[in-house]
Amino acid sequence: MEKFAYKLDDVDDAENIKSSSAGRDFDYYLVAGGGYTGIEVATNLRRYFNKKNSAKRIIIVERAASILGPLPQWMKDYVLPNLKKMNIEIMTDTVISEVQERRVFLENGNVFDNSMLIWTAGVKCADFIQGLDLKKNRQGRLEVDKFLKINDSCFAAGDSANFAFRQSSLRMAVQFAIV
Ligand SMILES: Cc1cc2nc3c(=O)[nH]c(=O)nc-3n(C[C@H](O)[C@H](O)[C@H](O)COP(=O)(O)OP(=O)(O)OC[C@H]3O[C@@H](n4cnc5c(N)ncnc54)[C@H](O)[C@@H]3O)c2cc1C
Repeated sequence: MEKFAYKLDDVDDAENIKSSSAGRDFDYYLVAGGGYTGIEVATNLRRYFNKKNSAKRIIIVERAASILGPLPQWMKDYVLPNLKKMNIEIMTDTVISEVQERRVFLENGNVFDNSMLIWTAGVKCADFIQGLDLKKNRQGRLEVDKFLKINDSCFAAGDSANFAFRQSSLRMAVQFAIV
């Protein structure tokens, strides 16, 4: 995955996806992960290819039973037909098992030749944080108290901090990063 999939963590990654899709003629664009970022990528790819009058297959591959997992059903009911209108395919309950150069294998046996895989399934916080010997959650975010304190002398905020709220963590989102 690390070698052949395209990740999207920052602007450089976005530029890389854009220049790679302009420079090479892929038949399939597979987006791993049906969360906000996956949907944003898939819809922007469709707009990009529409402008170039190029019909490409764009497929969102999601391991869970539905896209946009935590959102209420009415929002999914809004998004799904709109994705269909944009000719974006969705495969739920589907796992990507292997990636080779320009080839993607699914656990159900499907193989996509000459394809670009864009990985949006799961975000992580900075490498610097990953290396710290401090208490973290499953995403590698630092455990903080209600004052964003890790210990007597250190604080963490934004994506780096795991701030518990009503039995779950605040999302990695701009609104929660502004303090
Ligand atoms: C593709 C994508 C789409 C997103 N879309 C949305 C959206 O629509 N709405 C939304 O609310 N959120 C969105 N997010 C999430 C949002 O970007 C983050 O939650 C937010 O940027 C977190 O802010 P932050 O300040 O904690 O971290 P960041 O914005 O990641 O800032 C951390 C900074 O620290 C720097 N840094 C890292 N390590 C070091 C080091 N060792 N020394 C010095 N500097 C270092 C990094 O280069 C970076 O500039 C998106 C994220 C991605 C990846």
